[in-house]
Amino acid sequence: IRNLIVVLGDQLNHDSSAFDDFDASCDRVWMAENQEEATHVWCHKFRLVAFFAPMRHFRDELKESGKEVIYHELPKDGRKARTSSFASLLRETLESHPIERVVMVQPGDYRVEESIRSVVDEQKVKFDKRDDRSFFCSIEQFADWADGRKSMVLEQFYRTMRKEHDVLVDADGKPEGGDWNYDSENRGKFGKGGPKDVPSLPSFRRDKITEEVIEMVNSRFADHPGKCDGFDLPVNRDQALAYLDDFVSHRLSEFGTYQDAMWSEQKFLYHSRLSNAINLHLLSPREVVDAAIVAYKEDQAPLNSVEGFIRQILGWREYVRGMYWTRMPEYGEKNALQCDESQDVPSFFWDGETKMACVADSMRLLIETAYAHHIQRLMVLGLFAQLYGVHPSKFNDWHMAMYADAIDWVSLPNALGMSQHGDGGVMATKPYCASGNYINRMSNYCKSCPYKPGEATGEDACPFTTLYWDFLDRHYDRFKKNNRMAMQLKHVERKDKKELHQIRVRAKQIREGAIEI
Ligand code: FAD
Ligand code: SF4
Repeated sequence: IRNLIVVLGDQLNHDSSAFDDFDASCDRVWMAENQEEATHVWCHKFRLVAFFAPMRHFRDELKESGKEVIYHELPKDGRKARTSSFASLLRETLESHPIERVVMVQPGDYRVEESIRSVVDEQKVKFDKRDDRSFFCSIEQFADWADGRKSMVLEQFYRTMRKEHDVLVDADGKPEGGDWNYDSENRGKFGKGGPKDVPSLPSFRRDKITEEVIEMVNSRFADHPGKCDGFDLPVNRDQALAYLDDFVSHRLSEFGTYQDAMWSEQKFLYHSRLSNAINLHLLSPREVVDAAIVAYKEDQAPLNSVEGFIRQILGWREYVRGMYWTRMPEYGEKNALQCDESQDVPSFFWDGETKMACVADSMRLLIETAYAHHIQRLMVLGLFAQLYGVHPSKFNDWHMAMYADAIDWVSLPNALGMSQHGDGGVMATKPYCASGNYINRMSNYCKSCPYKPGEATGEDACPFTTLYWDFLDRHYDRFKKNNRMAMQLKHVERKDKKELHQIRVRAKQIREGAIEI
């Protein structure tokens, strides 16, 4: 065998650089479902199906196109392949076949790259790592952009990307509509009656392959969190394209206005739920951005929505990837707020058993679909973990376990950096910390909750609000150097000493589990 093409579970594109010089007479593709990837964090069942079902579909497409594939399938029987890992399976293949070179596209996880590289080195086989050209910005380009820069704010990067890729800019490089950003139009809340007639998402008939994967996951990983019986994500490119088309035709127009809003019992609101398909490379970010631009040009969606959506893909998504690859492996160890190493997420982050209406509703969605939208991630679950004092890498482990779209390059900067402020202000210049009043403003959750968002002490006190004041109090000295925190700290200074004492006591009780919340 000349080239063994390693295709990872999130590299499911036929136009990948890994196949550039593919010669069916002497090259083979290698793919592996393995126990280690499914268990190194305690993976949600839905998440496992979200990786394994598209992998098996991709394998069959490769075979149909004439490529020979060495594929390791995890068996239903839990005892078999109990200790398999990328490293052990690849070693087995390299020992049993004469192989000149291993070819692989830049993976999405530092740990996986290291483990594959170490086997290739050990087996003394040539290694050819290729660029992942599906991203707008290569890692080298990002490194150049970041080089010597004092401030790494997204906005500068995003404008550079807009100009470079000619997205919503005129011939002079000026932004479409006159502004770079329409955030002020994108903070809409649902009125008293809540969202009206939110279009439902497409659902695909599950085929035999997907059914088999669901059966395997339910049997092999029965004790893992979450459910997968309602699995409904796209498993191949055709389905992913149908998903994109549905979003652009039915939900993009309201995406911007309601991108920060939350409402109980809802699922996806006007969000795209495309992260999974994009991250697995079933869709390219460029075609997603192009589809949004066409919708704008054809008057199907207004500029505030289209720009807001494109900012997420061309801005945030590329930015977090650059951050990850230019800062790993040190980034994974960051703990700027010096959280206790042993502080894990609370038990209701696995089973949703809590009286807090906002957390319970976000967890309901997460358990059923391995999804929560951005504001639930950042301003409900992430916020709670931050205020509670969860160690940032433990929060990332939990995130990697529970979300179908989690891959380390995108999870770590968002979870450890943006959400937990573990990087001390690289991703966001101030922590996303807020009290229950914020959640009350952006949702209807508090109306059905036994707690009162405005209260920090007493039996009815909202745990977010108690923990918020305690958080500011605990980190007062650290944040007083940060101008953007001045207003919030002023409010702490004004707090009565007795109330502050009661807050500290209640926060400690919440953390120690002395109060059931
Ligand atoms: P939409 O709201 O429809 O947004 C459109 C697309 O923009 C998304 O599909 C996604 O591709 C992209 N996007 C938006 N925000 C971001 C962002 N901050 N970083 C990268 N891409 C972005 N996204 C992941 O894909 N995987 C993760 O593991 C992940 N972890 C996160 C952890 C936390 C704590 C937070 C706050 C955010 C995280 N995000 C992650 C970003 C974002 O929340 C999800 O991409 C989004 O909620 C996915 O749902 P959607 O497809 O409906 O997104
Ligand atoms: Fe969440 Fe507090 Fe509102 Fe209850 S009162 S829903 S815990 S923010």
